[in-house]
Amino acid sequence: MNSLIQRAYNFNAGPSALPLEVLEKAQQELIDFRGTGMSVMELSHRSAAYEEVHNHAITLLKELLSIPDEYEVLFLQGGGSLQFSMVPMNFLKPGEQAGYIMTGSWSEKAFAEAKLFGDPYHVFSNKESQYRRIPQFEELQYNPTDAYIHLTSNNTIYGTQWSDFPNTGEVPLIADMSSDILSQPFDVSKFALIYAGAQKNLGPSGVTVAIIRKDMIEKGNANIPTMLKYSTHSKNNSLYNTPPTFGIYMLGEVLNWIKELGGINTLGERNKQKAKLIYDVIDQSNGFYVGHAEPESRSLMNITFRVNDEELEKKFLSEAKLEGFVGVNGHRSVGGCRASTYNSVPYETCKAFSEFMIHFQNTNR
Ligand code: PMP
Repeated sequence: MNSLIQRAYNFNAGPSALPLEVLEKAQQELIDFRGTGMSVMELSHRSAAYEEVHNHAITLLKELLSIPDEYEVLFLQGGGSLQFSMVPMNFLKPGEQAGYIMTGSWSEKAFAEAKLFGDPYHVFSNKESQYRRIPQFEELQYNPTDAYIHLTSNNTIYGTQWSDFPNTGEVPLIADMSSDILSQPFDVSKFALIYAGAQKNLGPSGVTVAIIRKDMIEKGNANIPTMLKYSTHSKNNSLYNTPPTFGIYMLGEVLNWIKELGGINTLGERNKQKAKLIYDVIDQSNGFYVGHAEPESRSLMNITFRVNDEELEKKFLSEAKLEGFVGVNGHRSVGGCRASTYNSVPYETCKAFSEFMIHFQNTNR
């Protein structure tokens, strides 16, 4: 590591921190990528050198998530937001129902797009209590004839996260995992489709990952634009058109970093320890800090809390900024404070923030 470089304490909600090791490797390879005499960005997406990068990222994601053979990994564009539209466009027809489990603003955005194509309904919503918790499985009443059930695995704005997923049997389960993919082990085989924008846990913005069961690809509606069909990207190994090549390269390098760290189990444990540092300060603050999420629903990725006095909260945020903590303001729609502790955020960054929180409380009681 170049000791002259001062890396920020980066708690941005996305795009967010990337591992220093990955940035340094990309820097080293930037001008002459593995003897090609050009950067990855300048390679043809039809060249063997790029194809290796592309296929390596797919293979490694399959390995790290133990993705069964009946699934495909696709690299798409348009972010999580385009998936909100592509899902109903492909899998919902006029008059058909799909169940949406509403646990935050991103579920609302996904639901709004589905309304354009069919008859989605709320399987569950706790909007009236500010989305403080994830539902119990018993609360999920849906129709066995639904085209699919959709959930948001981690609620970036409210700071709640599913720790286990329901088994929906014959009804395809679709998840937006934009803000927690690869943050802890989970069973891919419960899902028909998983999608995630890369810019929080996987790499830079510009790439969206989809993990899709092959039978779903076949089921997609035929009369939609070519670029918006999952089948187009599946038939062409995500090379139907020019993919975001540099982003996919970076994603592959982030996956290498995760593998070297010990894989998803190690990462999951590390994420728990990081989040605990901050939640412990909240819990031991005698109400000085107030967590937003109910404890059983707490996110390991986005820790949302308030300081119990509005003026003090402003002071907290401005002092945090002065101390070099970046991105600690809550989302503009809800206010408060939020520390996003994604996979690449180092333990030391979380430790420094927890110490700052304790110090702030001690000097402002
Ligand atoms: N889903 C979730 C859970 C998100 O947190 C976000 C972005 N913060 C989105 C979807 C939208 O992603 P994008 O900006 O890539 O469209």
